[in-house]
Amino acid sequence: MLQYLTVPVTPFQQNCSLVWCDQTLQAAVIDPGGDLPRILAEVKRLGLKLEQIWLTHAHIDHAGGTAELSKQLDLPIIGPHPGDQFWIDGLAAQGKQFGFPHAEVFTPTRWLKDGDTVAIGNSTLQVRHCPGHTPGHVVFYSQETNRAFVGDVLFAGSIGRTDFPQGDHDTLIASIKQRLWPMGDQTVFIPGHGPESSFGRERRSNPYVADAV
Ligand SMILES: [Zn+2]
Ligand SMILES: [Zn+2]
Repeated sequence: MLQYLTVPVTPFQQNCSLVWCDQTLQAAVIDPGGDLPRILAEVKRLGLKLEQIWLTHAHIDHAGGTAELSKQLDLPIIGPHPGDQFWIDGLAAQGKQFGFPHAEVFTPTRWLKDGDTVAIGNSTLQVRHCPGHTPGHVVFYSQETNRAFVGDVLFAGSIGRTDFPQGDHDTLIASIKQRLWPMGDQTVFIPGHGPESSFGRERRSNPYVADAV
């Protein structure tokens, strides 16, 4: 079974998640935005073997530590979707704008698209392309554990910002309703910021995407 631990990183308290197979202890890190020593301390404490980097999208708080971590441990970079290439190219500028440490540009080892899967140890997760916050945003869904790592697509009680270049509100709403809701009301999601919630709870109470009554 897939296990996970969320480690908030960067001044934006971005929910970086370590995910691992409890049979093999092989691990991936989702969205290593920064604070690499904190992330690596948890890897060590848990006795994990970190093997892959998975990215939901290329905003600085999610992807800022990617190049350095990939180089340091020789890890493949998986994701996001090619729609986020311009955000990767702009990482240094994003870092300057928000006062982050210098973030280097990288080239993903493997780009992701809707319907792909990613695997760590004996666990496989489904990839869904969820544009709107950024055009190349993807989410990772573990069907066996009813967990979804959704980055900045959906939050408890809110949704991702769409006022960035190539952001689009209607596209984001469609991503949430057409690509997240089918994962089931019972599915718990780990957002890019703030507390976890379930899709069922958001369908009842989220003012942006609740079902019409
Ligand atoms: Zn973002
Ligand atoms: Zn974010």
